[in-house]
Amino acid sequence: MLARPRILIIGAGIGGAALALFLDKAGIGAALYDAAPADAGPAGGALQMAPNGMHILAQLGLADALAARGAAATTMQFRNARGTLLSRVEFQLAARYGSSAVNATRHAVHDLLVGELRRRGVAIHWGRRLRAIDDRTSAAICRFEDGSDVEAGVVIGADGIHSRVRAALMPDGPAPEFTGLVTGGGFVDPAALERLPPRATLEMIYGKVGFFGFGFVNERGDDRSIMWWNAIPRGAIPRHRLAGMGDEERRAMLLQVHRGWCAPVETAIRRSATPIFMDNIFDIRRLPIWHRGRIGLIGDAAHAVSPHAGQGASMALEDAMVLARHLRDHLQSPEEAFSRFEADRRARAEQVVEAGRRSGNQKRELGVIGAWARDRFVSLVLPSVIRWSTDRLYRYQPVWS
Ligand SMILES: Cc1cc2nc3c(=O)[nH]c(=O)nc-3n(C[C@H](O)[C@H](O)[C@H](O)COP(=O)(O)OP(=O)(O)OC[C@H]3O[C@@H](n4cnc5c(N)ncnc54)[C@H](O)[C@@H]3O)c2cc1C
Repeated sequence: MLARPRILIIGAGIGGAALALFLDKAGIGAALYDAAPADAGPAGGALQMAPNGMHILAQLGLADALAARGAAATTMQFRNARGTLLSRVEFQLAARYGSSAVNATRHAVHDLLVGELRRRGVAIHWGRRLRAIDDRTSAAICRFEDGSDVEAGVVIGADGIHSRVRAALMPDGPAPEFTGLVTGGGFVDPAALERLPPRATLEMIYGKVGFFGFGFVNERGDDRSIMWWNAIPRGAIPRHRLAGMGDEERRAMLLQVHRGWCAPVETAIRRSATPIFMDNIFDIRRLPIWHRGRIGLIGDAAHAVSPHAGQGASMALEDAMVLARHLRDHLQSPEEAFSRFEADRRARAEQVVEAGRRSGNQKRELGVIGAWARDRFVSLVLPSVIRWSTDRLYRYQPVWS
């Protein structure tokens, strides 16, 4: 019998952790390495787990636990910055696709996955940042920044948008593209706001410049129960500048854009708990390859999608299950497993990245006529577009067995 190749997963974020769980279900051991220190604590803001992501979590037995830590989202409503209601779209998500969408903190999703790995005895090597890969005939040598080397028969890059595995695979490949939008976000106490979103509803507000969204992220009713996020069209903020910006500077920058918007936009920003998140929005539209030989990519490393699509975590979970299934069935030929994975996933992932781009384009700086046309579009056309596009997204429900 041939020896099993040693599988290394670089990145124990949403996709990497889920991949290790599915491999474990198949009786395949994998070693997980992540750059974050073991004691990093909760990181990140909020996200939405769409019904297609919930479907994958259900197959790991984690969907109910996430629903209990998050807030169901079944409706979207759209306003302009003056507060005029432009449209409202109600979805029968649970009846049609088996689950509502769930708003949750990124930490809640990650914590559930990592907790399940721990329960199953799958170790994560924290504090190990990949530097480079030396891909030899017999094995790949993963070189870490702490000076250690680990040999692998298969290397999977689940190391996010600024992936080092991708850089090793394609030193001259495309870099993540800045989309021309910067996003901020945070959490606020519902009691602080003049107006709440209806339960299970995400409210999206479009201005002449930028966008603001908010909704419940859990049912506790404390200062982290409402999530909010925005998008501002502007140049990228250099990384060192972002790192040096305090919460008050971020608040002031956000208020400059949203001054005069309908309630509760300004209040949400003023009263937001800290930290206030801020980042440049990048995506990756198309890579020439997703794998070569024994090295492959999943999640944001392969196809980073902007947050406007609300699909980043769901796509990483789908990737994890589909790749694990192909590795289970073609373990002696990782290249075959990677090829089948790419054939199953590339078109869908790239469509989602494009959808995120189109949605981001509604949030750019518009003149009076542009904003008027956008409002007509949001009133009259967007509800049908959303129903059609989400139906295509949510109907895709691959199964493990
Ligand atoms: C700390 C953090 C907070 C986030 N917060 C949000 C949020 O609030 N809202 C939202 O929509 N999305 C957030 N994201 C992004 C979101 O998780 C991903 O877009 C999505 O889930 C796709 O998952 P992924 O597994 O491909 O990548 P990610 O979930 O980003 O995971 C990538 C993992 O790779 C690790 N890593 C990176 N470089 C290396 C390296 N060189 N060597 C080893 N490990 C490495 C990272 O520490 C991380 O654990 C966050 C990501 C991170 C890492």
